[in-house]
Amino acid sequence: MERIKGIFLKLTAIAAVFFVAGFAAIQLESVQDWMLLRIFSSTTVDSGALAEPDALSASVCGSRSPLPDPNRAEACVLVEAGERLFVVDVGDGSVARLRQWTTPFNKIEAVLLTHLHSDHISDLGDMHLATWVLQDRVAKLPVYGPVGVEQVTAGFEMAFGIDYGLRNAHHGDSIAPLNVAGYDPRPIDNEALTLIDDGDLKVSAFLVDHPPIVPAYGYRFDYKGRSLVISGDTNKSQAMVDNSRGVDVLFHEAQSNGMLDIMIAASQAISENKRAQLFEDIQTYHTTPVEAAEVANEAGVKHLVFYHLTPSPRNSVMADRLLRGVKDVRPDNWTLSVDGTKVTLPIGSDEIVIGMH
Ligand SMILES: [Zn+2]
Ligand SMILES: [Zn+2]
Repeated sequence: MERIKGIFLKLTAIAAVFFVAGFAAIQLESVQDWMLLRIFSSTTVDSGALAEPDALSASVCGSRSPLPDPNRAEACVLVEAGERLFVVDVGDGSVARLRQWTTPFNKIEAVLLTHLHSDHISDLGDMHLATWVLQDRVAKLPVYGPVGVEQVTAGFEMAFGIDYGLRNAHHGDSIAPLNVAGYDPRPIDNEALTLIDDGDLKVSAFLVDHPPIVPAYGYRFDYKGRSLVISGDTNKSQAMVDNSRGVDVLFHEAQSNGMLDIMIAASQAISENKRAQLFEDIQTYHTTPVEAAEVANEAGVKHLVFYHLTPSPRNSVMADRLLRGVKDVRPDNWTLSVDGTKVTLPIGSDEIVIGMH
């Protein structure tokens, strides 16, 4: 017993020495600089990194709806088809999330907006900056979206036009080239919903049901035999079933009207009647988690990911309440996303890998 006590005291003394020495070391300027060099090196895009195995993947860069949540950004999904990158919606906080992942912004071919609600477009200004400065972009940033997208991008250009000039004046054309500053808006024609089709990759839009927001789109990506669909905002709709038929992964929005009813009661209890009305209003144009599971089942979707969560759960009790009834409809093959949830579909296999970005 005495011997064990002796060993324990010695180990404690050694740990204390290391702690004190470590604390002293991080006061040294040279050690601080070395630590920062290590951190900055690990957060910079490594252009020499080994190529990933070929795959179609999608990562949730924003999993919440407008209801606030300190740990989640608003709607955003990063799609990677091999080396080609696309971002579907850029809600508040989503570009910060993409920066956190050291996303190679120079590889983003286009932004695709499902519709023009603010929680899907508000980070367009930051997305422009991230894909422009230092990115050797050769053209303006393409932004697909509903008719009206040209007004949105013109508005951002007007708001940020002074910034474009200031950065160009300071850094010059090689870092902030003025001739490619701004957006290339591509309003979607409902008669031509295939946006990209070049052999390996097909990207198509389809109309969803988000009244009174017309048009609102979902997007489908097909790449070398793998496929995924992103709903955007929609009621439970036959269009979602028709366009998701047999896909590997469906990213579907999810709103718990049961939770909203509780929030309505709580708002009314403190006479916040307009807030109660708002929670009432939004029940007419979204899909419940159970309905999303039904859509996935009817379409024969292999894996369902819930995103654009209303409200987004902050703990397991809220998560259980949000998903109440889902297991009765679809016992498994679904994931409740957080920011960073990544689904990878390796080419030449049936595998569906769920992980974190
Ligand atoms: Zn939304
Ligand atoms: Zn919306």
